[in-house]
Amino acid sequence: MRRSSNLFVLKTITSLFLIAAFIAVSLPTYAQRGCATGRVMEAYLLKYPERKAEYQKRQADFQQKYEAVRRQKAQMRVQQRLSATVTIPVVVHIVMDDPSLVTDEQVQSQLDVLNADYAGLNADSSKIPAAFKPFFAKGNIRFCLAQRTPANEPTNGIVRVTSFTTSKPGDHDPVKYANMGGSNAWNISKYLNIWVCRMSEANDLGYSFMPQLPGLADSDVGFVTAYHAFGTIGTAEAPFNKGRTATHEIGHYFNLAHVWGSNECVESCSDSDEVDDTPNQNTCTYGTPSFPKTDNCTSVAPGIMFMNYMDYVDDAAMCMFTEGQADRMETALESFPDRSPLLSSDGCVPPVLFNNDVKALSVNYPNNAIVYCGQSFTPSIRIQNQGALPLTSVTLHVSVDGATPVSTNITLNLASLGETIIQANAITAGVGSHTIKIYTTNPNGSADQYTVNDTVSTKFTVTGNSTDPVAEGFEGSGFPTAGWGITNTSDLPEFNPVHVNTAFRSGSRSVKFNTHNFQLFGKSSVISTPEITIPLSADSVKVTFWRAAAQSNSLNSDTLEILFSTDCGQTFTSAYKKGGSALRTRNNFTNSEFIPFEDEWVADTLDLSPYLAGQHSSFTVQFRGINGYGNNIYLDDINIYSRELPPALKSNGFIIAPNPTTGLLTIQHYPSASRLKGIAIFSSTGQLYHKASYSTANAVNYIPVDMRSAAAGVYFIKLIYTDKTVTKKIIKVN
Ligand SMILES: [Zn+2]
Repeated sequence: MRRSSNLFVLKTITSLFLIAAFIAVSLPTYAQRGCATGRVMEAYLLKYPERKAEYQKRQADFQQKYEAVRRQKAQMRVQQRLSATVTIPVVVHIVMDDPSLVTDEQVQSQLDVLNADYAGLNADSSKIPAAFKPFFAKGNIRFCLAQRTPANEPTNGIVRVTSFTTSKPGDHDPVKYANMGGSNAWNISKYLNIWVCRMSEANDLGYSFMPQLPGLADSDVGFVTAYHAFGTIGTAEAPFNKGRTATHEIGHYFNLAHVWGSNECVESCSDSDEVDDTPNQNTCTYGTPSFPKTDNCTSVAPGIMFMNYMDYVDDAAMCMFTEGQADRMETALESFPDRSPLLSSDGCVPPVLFNNDVKALSVNYPNNAIVYCGQSFTPSIRIQNQGALPLTSVTLHVSVDGATPVSTNITLNLASLGETIIQANAITAGVGSHTIKIYTTNPNGSADQYTVNDTVSTKFTVTGNSTDPVAEGFEGSGFPTAGWGITNTSDLPEFNPVHVNTAFRSGSRSVKFNTHNFQLFGKSSVISTPEITIPLSADSVKVTFWRAAAQSNSLNSDTLEILFSTDCGQTFTSAYKKGGSALRTRNNFTNSEFIPFEDEWVADTLDLSPYLAGQHSSFTVQFRGINGYGNNIYLDDINIYSRELPPALKSNGFIIAPNPTTGLLTIQHYPSASRLKGIAIFSSTGQLYHKASYSTANAVNYIPVDMRSAAAGVYFIKLIYTDKTVTKKIIKVN
């Protein structure tokens, strides 16, 4: 929710976006609570208007059930919601550029707050005014960190994903999708999913979808919170460092509205939170008000219940749910089909461990990597000892492209549930794209008792060799082209460069760095050439290519970087880097996916001579598209070549060729024509045929001369320098 209308207006004006962004970051830290739930719900029902009636019907059905519960309770005068406390298994997905900033202890501090607040055991309940004490709820909902994964493996209920992806509140929030740099929800019938991340709107503290929203994907169900409003320690920042954002948002998750109603802080006494024991309230309350506070809907003391978790006051100022709210949440938990299965979840119960069970977690190397120059390499994997016994030995099996596995026996000492990386013996693979499968057997010399988690696999490419020159237009149907390699710096192979036939400089294909749909800011997508052999006597080495790129706005830009390696990919040196307006080839900003027109391709040249000429006889070139939320980078028609100068040019400093000539000849200087003042051409009889003078400040190294109109015969070319004059004889033939 945007809290300040001034800021909102600024932000909607594109040209002032920068100013607004500046104001947003320079505001006092997160001054007011901003819950995006109201905005997200409104936006969802606007986006899918056909789902609104069904949603309202489901809410009306719920309201009847809820009111029946309330009536029954009023008659029986006993606490009778759920018959006993229930514990909801929680999985916390921390999606951040540095997810270790939110520690396990910080996650536990949030669980502690939730369990105190939902039980009415929070110490600050002493601040509840006497007039509201009778309504103070001691509810039955509790929370645990998940002890088993959906696959019934042990877990601490915390998933960390290293990513620059931020939450964009709404359906298909990228923070909830691994293919957009987020973390996939765990089975919502067994777990309450919580995502801790950076929000795309600085003022948002979090949001939840209300229950049983028609059409909402399971993968969108749960609660998202800003990392600075989560838990009570670590990255939590005042005034939202008492864990109440989660208390509030999980209230929404269990179908509580804000105390003033379900709108966006609209001033009105006619809307309601549909709870009978919260006073009618005009609009939201911020900060730390003092009691009593009245408004035009509740104008007499004790006034409005601003200390309710479902208002917008600071964490330290909120301290209660009412009985009516607790009834509503518990009724929601029992009634809504996308909440009630949580009541029978076994997610809080750790699985019983086998004695001997090794889990292969991921390929460590070569995980979506390029192996350069066909070298041998050492595969390695990350494993977890999921057995109850310490793991002292295991056998690794490595199979490339389905070939007979190569085995390595490994001894180690890994405690139960410990993780480590283990290496197989070195292997080689042929040039090209490969699949590698690695699996474990024989833990502690015994049969593995749970074999479905023993295997991991990934892809990699091995680059080959190429002779000078290289000309690549990506026209072949295979990609990467034989001998070339592709990879990217995320763990996700789907971010690799792609071969496209929707855009091309020539022919019918080119290569695209897919930054338009690439959420992982700062990650790069890589294309590598084979190892290119050049003569050690080369005088120049050049890379020419065509590029096309666009930006979606002035703030976000992708970067193209070109690097080279002379040690088979062990180290790379950057030799070219362009981004933003220097890279883009379309002038106007484009939000929809950029596909270049014919005239939006630009030729570019990179001179590698200073790094390579005369120093190295082989090298590899890497093209990197670095994602900055721009809008696609395309490459086509890459040429890489070396040139060797004629020995005479190098020893004399100039050469006139061809000689004899039919008329068109070139006077070439090396390394520079900076001392040349002029030329004069005389016939054998001394007649001046041609004359030109040159500025020594703008030396021209290649001077074309046209003698096609001259009669056949012998001529003399005088090169006049600042310090000497040189005369050369040439022969003109017809
Ligand atoms: Zn809210």
